[in-house]
Amino acid sequence: VGELELIEAIERVLERRGERVVRWVGDDAAVVRARPFAVTSIDTLADGVHFELSTHAPADVGWKALATALSDLAAMGAEAGEAYVSLALPGELGAERALELVRGMEELAAETGVTVGGGDVVASPALVVSVAATGWAESEDELVGRDGARPGDLVGVTGEVGGSAAGLLLLRGDTRAELSVDEREALLLRHRRPRPRLAAGRLLAAAGARAMIDLSDGLATDARHVARRSGAELIVRLADLPLAAGVDQVALAAGRDPRELAATGGDDYELLVCFAPERREAAEQTARQAGTALTWVGEVRGGQGLVLEGATEELSGWEHR
Ligand SMILES: [Mg+2]
Repeated sequence: VGELELIEAIERVLERRGERVVRWVGDDAAVVRARPFAVTSIDTLADGVHFELSTHAPADVGWKALATALSDLAAMGAEAGEAYVSLALPGELGAERALELVRGMEELAAETGVTVGGGDVVASPALVVSVAATGWAESEDELVGRDGARPGDLVGVTGEVGGSAAGLLLLRGDTRAELSVDEREALLLRHRRPRPRLAAGRLLAAAGARAMIDLSDGLATDARHVARRSGAELIVRLADLPLAAGVDQVALAAGRDPRELAATGGDDYELLVCFAPERREAAEQTARQAGTALTWVGEVRGGQGLVLEGATEELSGWEHR
């Protein structure tokens, strides 16, 4: 299959959603009806660094590449809009598996109402997938940065953490945990097909979130970004982290502390969010409206950096991704 044929096959997989996209794949550039504020993020996943083609199906790689980019939009409180994709494909991957990758990406695009509006395909010695995603907002105050945490704020986490790291241990055969089939599948799904918290991000932003970040590299690293950008100290109690079902067993069977695994493992794509204490109940209710739960795991103080209460050593997540 030649490159042109592959591109035509990819175009047939993609669908245009909504009224915003005026011109897209098939033209030299995409044309979109803009809203006042464009929110753009780019993420790159490389074989051997962020996933292994030996353990990850191409469709899961495509899904995850879009998920990581959309998760950053969620963390800003933006409405997800369009994605643009660069695929660097090794010859041995073959056209059919390249198409599977695009189909996996398109599945998440359909679920989130996103249009994959264009992209590029190049030959490469290793599979590398870059996704730039653009989200939209009507005004600047709809959006939330990492820099708004203030002493006295509460620190919360949506959903559950540690599931992706536990799923990866299972995928690699690094644990002998005895799990039910359902628990095992849920953890593997968590790793292979993370769901960006787009609804929660928008609603929490509207409910007055002061600072927000998505947990992509692991809480130990991501929470530190919020502390640094806010010029404050974040205290997070490991004992209060909401662990996904099965994380305990998987971690212990692998000789790891479950809460430390959850704090250092990346790829959960939950949101860490800071609220003024008087917004506590509103924030909890908002998270429920968005189909998730908010668990309070710590506070903001007037110092600097991140304190992980209950950690036996200095912890960090993935820092070179
Ligand atoms: Mg991020």
